[in-house]
Amino acid sequence: MSGLALDGLVKRYGSFTALQRTDLTIPHGQFVCLLGPSGCGKTTLLRMVAGLDSPTEGRIRLDGTDITHKPAHQRNFGMVFQSLALFPHLTVGENIAYPLRIRGVSKADQGREVERLLALVRLPGVADRAVSQLSGGQRQRIAIARALALSPKLFLLDEPLSALDAKLREAMQIELKLLQERLGITTIVVTHDQREAMTMADLVVVMSQGRVRQAASPIEVYRRPADSFVADFIGMTNLLRGHVSGGALAVEGGALALPGLPPSGEATISVRPEELRVHRDAAGPNRLPGTVSFVRDLGSHVELRIDVAGREMIAVATPQDRPDVEPGQLVGVELPPASCVVLES
Ligand code: ATP
Repeated sequence: MSGLALDGLVKRYGSFTALQRTDLTIPHGQFVCLLGPSGCGKTTLLRMVAGLDSPTEGRIRLDGTDITHKPAHQRNFGMVFQSLALFPHLTVGENIAYPLRIRGVSKADQGREVERLLALVRLPGVADRAVSQLSGGQRQRIAIARALALSPKLFLLDEPLSALDAKLREAMQIELKLLQERLGITTIVVTHDQREAMTMADLVVVMSQGRVRQAASPIEVYRRPADSFVADFIGMTNLLRGHVSGGALAVEGGALALPGLPPSGEATISVRPEELRVHRDAAGPNRLPGTVSFVRDLGSHVELRIDVAGREMIAVATPQDRPDVEPGQLVGVELPPASCVVLES
């Protein structure tokens, strides 16, 4: 088996379970983002892959070889962790050469490798600069270059861009993604920022409370969220809960005929704001009557808040498709069946 496999991985601290049983396969060359709110276990998972912590249960395999108990320094993984900051008293070149030096790489080869890595992160010619002379973004690129010395098999990063301002951060997300594509190196990044994950990842692993909720492509977690946590955490959504009877979901305000409903009992659906159709006529198939409470024109799109049987629904439209409605107006909110996702919980 080629790639990284986590088999039944569990991490407990005393009676507290930081990571519940996790099975995950990451094929070679994938860019993976571990995404979730603070304390959900992202760092715990990454540290076990890095070899900085050992799992309470389970196995970690790389290309079929069991590495569960292999010490971190023997794994040859590149790491950008907050705890592995640059050495402030060394130059840029000395920082990048550090892992090469401790592996006994010759001085001449160190110099060549430093130049190659600096070119890779698009900072050529700064080897002799002091780290303190660099901006935050440049420092982060140097940390990335240092982690990529010795051509690691896996590249692991814990919130690598969190200290950067919004604009630089967005630019670095694209840069990091392009760099990873060029190198084809399997990469795992911890982030709590869903836009960041959607920008960079081939595979988004959404976590909450020590559990993997869904592992899928960015578009899949957006379009087909597994449960209400994922639906709510990724972008904006409308969640509706109701009772199933006769193939329809009875919610406050009406009944919705939808595919994929369970035969009976309670069910929750998610429908994205841009999928809703707002009509001036309240009656119609799969329409819920409501009253427009607020219209927000954001230039690139229009957002409508609609009170449906006491619950707020959000609809988003492009300026071209803007519904001709005003606050206070009675409208029909259409939920197209194909856009409604029946959630697991
Ligand atoms: P953040 O985004 O805030 O870094 P995270 O998702 O990376 O969060 P983890 O650092 O993996 O979260 O922590 C998961 C849970 O495990 C937290 O509740 C944390 O308090 C707990 N935890 C982590 N390390 C230890 C430890 N050494 N001893 C006890 N509890 C720990």
